[in-house]
Amino acid sequence: MRKHNFSAGPSILAKEVIKNTANAVLDLNGIGLSIMEISHRGKDFQGVMDEAVELFKQLLDIPENYHVLFLGGGASMQFCMAPYNLLNKKAAYLETGVWAKKAIKEAKGFGEVEVVASSADKNYNYIPKGFEIPEDADYFHITTNNTIFGTEIHEDYDSPVPLVADMSSDIFSRPVDVSKYALIYGGAQKNLGPAGVTFVIIRDDIPGRLERYIPTMLNYKTHIDQGSMFNTPPCLPIYTCLETLRWLKKLGGVSVMQKMNREKADILYGEIERNPMFSGTAEKDSRSLMNICFVMEEKYKELEKEFLEFATSRGMVGIKGHRSVGGFRASTYNAMPRESIIALVDVMKEFEKKNL
Ligand SMILES: *Cc1c(COP(=O)(O)O)cnc(C)c1O
Repeated sequence: MRKHNFSAGPSILAKEVIKNTANAVLDLNGIGLSIMEISHRGKDFQGVMDEAVELFKQLLDIPENYHVLFLGGGASMQFCMAPYNLLNKKAAYLETGVWAKKAIKEAKGFGEVEVVASSADKNYNYIPKGFEIPEDADYFHITTNNTIFGTEIHEDYDSPVPLVADMSSDIFSRPVDVSKYALIYGGAQKNLGPAGVTFVIIRDDIPGRLERYIPTMLNYKTHIDQGSMFNTPPCLPIYTCLETLRWLKKLGGVSVMQKMNREKADILYGEIERNPMFSGTAEKDSRSLMNICFVMEEKYKELEKEFLEFATSRGMVGIKGHRSVGGFRASTYNAMPRESIIALVDVMKEFEKKNL
């Protein structure tokens, strides 16, 4: 049976991306060697790295004075690497969920942290508005898409201090005005590639601001100076990212993606609103286009397990909600085809017919 992969991460990749990666694992560009067994310093892998960086810059329209890095350690490593490199006295954070809280915890190890606003009062089901960013902060940190709670910041904030963003789960889902950010990072395994590689977009005036000693591997300057090759980079995951970037470019880039993502999300949110058995958890103007969270209406709550089994028996994968929200979460990343959304909607309709 055809599977519809709604997993939150690692998550769906385009079929073509998987196929091309499989081919490169067997034989990269007809050189008679696997992508897994060649030197990262040889010209074949250098070609992969250069094209990945180039396409990354092209597709997000990244200005000249920024660097794109591919590192290890995951987004979680960036939770400490960012303050290590940027936090002198005080940092400002927007607390919009579990990942934001983890980032805050790490920053506290390096200085004072001012949480400018939090949506903890409503289990993170909205993005706070009308907060003030302190002008004496070394930077302001946001999580643009809250993978667990299904909320998303749909704009690029104006910040009086360097803006730092965790874009793990919505990178390449929409055009971004990169010039408004000092640092953007994320794990690849949501919307870009497999687990094992972390992307970093960094403005060139950011590294080297602080006096303190920063361990070599945690210093952005090291990786900028060495073109992400200070140590052995995650070669195979980077190759898969390159295939995703090629695929994105062929489809027309991030504006086309945004349009497709809106259409897909509209279909699913539309059904959640229409179907009397379900309701969405996030406030409407904060709803994510990438992670769509919903629960069973109170009076049908005892049917949640049954719906999950019903959906699973019809090929739906990964729709169980995170334990901190409950219910269901359908992750609808770039690679998620519209047909899978429609298949899920059909399952919801069928379940309604069966029970009401
Ligand atoms: C998944 C996720 C992370 C954690 O990424 P790792 O690569 O596992 O460290 C951080 N932030 C957000 C928004 C995420 O979705």
